Amino acid sequence: MGIGDDPIEEGFDVPISALEHYSYCPRQCGLIHIEHTFEENVYTVRGRQAHERVDSGEDTVADGVPVLRGIALWSERLGLRGKADLVELRPDGAYPVEYKVGRRQGIHPDLQLCAQGLCLEEMLGTKVPRGAIYYHGLRRRHEIALSEELRRRTVVAVDAIREMLATQHLPSPANDARCQNCSLADACLPTVVGEPARVRGLAGALFQPAAVEEDAWDDA
Ligand code: SF4
Repeated sequence: MGIGDDPIEEGFDVPISALEHYSYCPRQCGLIHIEHTFEENVYTVRGRQAHERVDSGEDTVADGVPVLRGIALWSERLGLRGKADLVELRPDGAYPVEYKVGRRQGIHPDLQLCAQGLCLEEMLGTKVPRGAIYYHGLRRRHEIALSEELRRRTVVAVDAIREMLATQHLPSPANDARCQNCSLADACLPTVVGEPARVRGLAGALFQPAAVEEDAWDDA
């Protein structure tokens, strides 16, 4: 297959976008990729609009470097498929750029970028030593080196996601600070599901027979 071809075939079963979700919260990844739950909040709307803007752009050449947008990616070796927002075909190798809203918070998108790089290395037979994440909130790129450690973490996460998808097992909720900005909090119910004693209490109350006034029987 050539660059830009449709890679969705049997076996290409881990979406590249799942890497960021899994790194942020495995349960969020499961809700999206097993249960196909998706709720919009201000962050997801901004993110979708940012991706639409960059994906709808034309392929260009900047300072002699071809710039491809919204291209399909895949890796047969890792069983990955997905898309890159933008790839610069520099003389020393491909350089993927992933667009994100807001500011940098954690390394979660780095795994997604690294997965894009691993796909490009396999597809183009070239090295991808680094890439960048463009943060709209900062209006600038944050360059990421695709180090051996980042590659190792990415492959470990790919295997864990594949296992989760195969077993269809939804991970337990994190029920911590991550939940405050999570668009799936209403579907996840982290404070309920994350506290087994509370769930047992609610379940018990649910099946408690209603108290019947003795007079009600007398009137019958
Ligand atoms: S609400 Fe919390 S536990 Fe649930 S998916 Fe979001 S981050 Fe994960």
